[in-house]
Amino acid sequence: MLEGVDGPSYAQCSSKGCRASASWTLRWNNPKLHTPDYRKTWLACDDHRPTLGQFLEMRGFLREVTPFGAAPDAPIS
Ligand SMILES: [Zn+2]
Repeated sequence: MLEGVDGPSYAQCSSKGCRASASWTLRWNNPKLHTPDYRKTWLACDDHRPTLGQFLEMRGFLREVTPFGAAPDAPIS
């Protein structure tokens, strides 16, 4: 089940069934559920960054994709 990541302690890919370590952060917002400034965070491995990115982009949810760990000051929510 695709869900948000609760914390940075377990940096695993958010793709269903994938246990690879995450190397990308996908930040997204569902305007029907979330306020405009809210961001859900998914983590993705190299293999699933395009898959998860397309899933979100098709729905118009994707806001930004950043290398995981590259922005230590970025809040993970
Ligand atoms: Zn993966």
